[in-house]
Formats: sequence, C-alpha cells, structure tokens
Amino acid sequence: MHHESPIQRRKTRQIHVGKVAVGGDALISVQSMTNTETCDVAATVTQIRRLEAVGADIIRVSVPSMEAAEAFKAIRAQVETPLVADIHFDHRIALQVMENGVDGLRINPGNIGSLDKTRLVVKVARDKGISIRIGVNAGSLEKDIHEKYGEPTPAALVESALRHASILDELNFHDVEISVKASDIFLAVDAYRLLSRQVDYPLHLGITEAGGLRSGTVKSAIGLGLLLREGIGDTIRISLAADPVEEIRVGFDILKSLHLRQRGINLIACPSCSRQEFDVINTTNALESRFEDILEPMDVSIIGCVVNGIGEAKEADIGLAGGDKRSILYYRGKQVDRIDNQNIVDVLEKRIRAEIAERVAGRNEA
Ligand code: SF4
Repeated sequence: MHHESPIQRRKTRQIHVGKVAVGGDALISVQSMTNTETCDVAATVTQIRRLEAVGADIIRVSVPSMEAAEAFKAIRAQVETPLVADIHFDHRIALQVMENGVDGLRINPGNIGSLDKTRLVVKVARDKGISIRIGVNAGSLEKDIHEKYGEPTPAALVESALRHASILDELNFHDVEISVKASDIFLAVDAYRLLSRQVDYPLHLGITEAGGLRSGTVKSAIGLGLLLREGIGDTIRISLAADPVEEIRVGFDILKSLHLRQRGINLIACPSCSRQEFDVINTTNALESRFEDILEPMDVSIIGCVVNGIGEAKEADIGLAGGDKRSILYYRGKQVDRIDNQNIVDVLEKRIRAEIAERVAGRNEA
C-alpha cells in the first residue's frame, strides 16, 4: 500500500545527468560506480548491465587515462543508463569523454590547472548539456584549506566545495551538483547540513569508504538517513567494499524505508520465535532472492503467527499470518485463502507475480 513520505525536501535547482533529472522535484536517484578496469570494455559493460538490472539510475565510471576515455566510447555505445566519468586533473580526458558521449563529469574545477583549461571544459559541457559534479572528499582536501582548519572539519569541506563552485559560477555554469563526503558520519552529515544552507545546487550524498557490506550499510543508512530526514539530498551513492550491485540495492532500501522511492517488493517479516508456524527466516530470504527482478512496488508481510500477522496483513498488499499446518493469506487485509505451510514460498511467489501482472494489465487498459 502506498505510504506518503512525511519528508519535506529542500528546494534545489534541477539539473540533468543525461535523461535523469537531479534536484528540484525529481525522485532521489540511486547511483553506483563500476570497479572494473575501464579499459576492459567487456567486463565494464557486463557490470553496468548488472547495475542496470537492479535499477541503477546513474552509473559512474572512472576514466584515469586517454586509453580509458577511448574505451569509454565503446562502453557508452552498449549501455542505456546515464554515465558519469570520474576525472582527476586532466582536462584532455574530460574533453575526450565529452566527445565520446558522457552525460556527466565528476571533476573539481580547481584541480584542472589553468582557468583557460577549465573554460574549455565548461564550454564543451555547456554545448553538450553535460552536468558537472564537484566532489569534495575529507581525505583529499586542498593543502591550504587543510592547514587553515588543522584537520578536515565541516567548514573545511564546505569551503573547498564553494571554492570549486565559485569557479563554475564565474563562468556562468550552473548545471552543478556537489558532494562533501567523509568516512566519519558526523563530519559528513554536518558538512552537508552546512552546505545545504549556502547553495541551492542539488546534493549528491555519500558516506565515503563506509566499509564492507554490513558495516558500510549501517553507516550509510545512519548518515544518509539523518540527512534525508531533514530533506537534504537529491542523489545518493552508497560506498561499499562489496559488489556495486549491493550499493544499488542498499540505496533503494534506504529510500524505500523513508518512503522516498517505491520500488519492488517491500518485505515486512517478523524475526520469528517459538510461536512460528512455518520457517519465517528461510521463507523470507527465499522470497527476497526470488523477487530481485520485480520493480513494481508492493508491500508483502510474512509473519510467523497470528499474534502480529493479522495486524501487519491489514497494512500490506499481500500478507501471510502463520497458522497450524496452513497459514492464512490476506489480500489488502482480507483473508482470501490458506496455504499449506510446506509450499509457502512457491505459492506466494506465484500469487505475487499474478497480482503484479494483473496490476500492470489494469494500468495498460486504463
Ligand atoms: S509474530 Fe509470532 S512468530 Fe513472529 S516473532 Fe511475533 S510471536 Fe513470534
């Protein structure tokens, strides 16, 4: 069932990364970054397709050399999703990827070198409708800013971001988004808060180098959760030392839990206990892996007994409350059937897929 998010999003200017709008009233987008060798076109395309399959809105590719910029052309030709090239320092690489069909650049204008080079990059970006992300990272602050503040502080990160932004501003270029990432949650959150009060550019949120799958997910959920609850954030990337596919899944899970995006099956499951009438944990995990291809939003509750099963089923599109030998199936809170406890996974999968097919058909008719 559809839940409105109570979150009031901060008003930001809207930019585009290819066909994806970022900022303003656009949905908060979820992005990730490939970790293959960009020069290995086949491997990179395969990874991008896996990211597309789980719903990535934007995908970033590191382009560290002119060879990688060439490879980018072949990659671009084979995938659909808007691509951002991650560029450090070298404006010739930026020019080359823009020639080769990139949708966005992640480049810090203050690091390009001369203003002439920056002007050139900005001119091409403007002509081709390419947006630029300024990406400040606590681990790589400019030396003078680091010295001024003594250590990375929220104000230091913001000063760095505003310095880069002012260069683009002077060139009258405003298709800009900004990130001020840190691996420490307090530093990152306070930097984003401070920045959000000073600019109306859309903000790209991330807790950088967050950690492995579990610890990184927890850190990202807390850091991004705090910011998103305050209405801050227009696009997100979860940085995990894990398969980038997991970054997209976790990103959507964070947005779904705040009702900021609806996507795929939202499973509500009890932790199970000795009252359970069927194996809640295995059922839930089996369903979760079987539903990975489903994009249609739907709330499904899997509850081991009637203690909480009936109440949860009332709130869900499809609910199951454990019963003796046969569990009770609800559609929108109404009991419709009983399912043999031995066959729960297969029957639920079939029912849910049928319900989704019906919804989609109904929409197509309407
Ligand atoms: S809903 Fe029932 S089975 Fe699940 S944890 Fe609560 S009492 Fe246990």
